[in-house]
Amino acid sequence: MKCSKCGTDNPDGAKFCRECGTAFPKAANQNRTHKIVWVFVIAAGVFIGLCLCVFAFVSLPLLIPKTFYNVRYDVASVGGASITYINVNGGTEQEDFPFNAWFREFKAASGTFLSVSAQTHGNFVGCVITVNGKVLSQSTERNSFASCSVRLP
Ligand SMILES: [Zn+2]
Repeated sequence: MKCSKCGTDNPDGAKFCRECGTAFPKAANQNRTHKIVWVFVIAAGVFIGLCLCVFAFVSLPLLIPKTFYNVRYDVASVGGASITYINVNGGTEQEDFPFNAWFREFKAASGTFLSVSAQTHGNFVGCVITVNGKVLSQSTERNSFASCSVRLP
């Protein structure tokens, strides 16, 4: 870089002329580089912050311990029911049961939606959902579907 006052050649990036001491103006593109670095640092900070928020939103519910309940479905009918529909959290499975009385026991987490319905041909049919030994839903029907459902707290 040439000094505009005395014409001496100076190394690139020098702040003053080594011959006459004239101050050189700051290189404009150096300022621009600083701005780009700052924009990048701020953008990276915002991005990392957003990632942490998403991570917290997804992982925090998993860290809260779930309560589990002892669930029991009971189905009974006069003369034998033909079909039972068992539904846990929206997933329905169908079971045929030719017996007059039938039950199923399992554990389910809080928030689980449970429902059971049983169909009979011509006779009385009833179903009961028991949670931790307490009857929470029951239904009796004739010549139709008996249905009960519970959402665990
Ligand atoms: Zn000079």
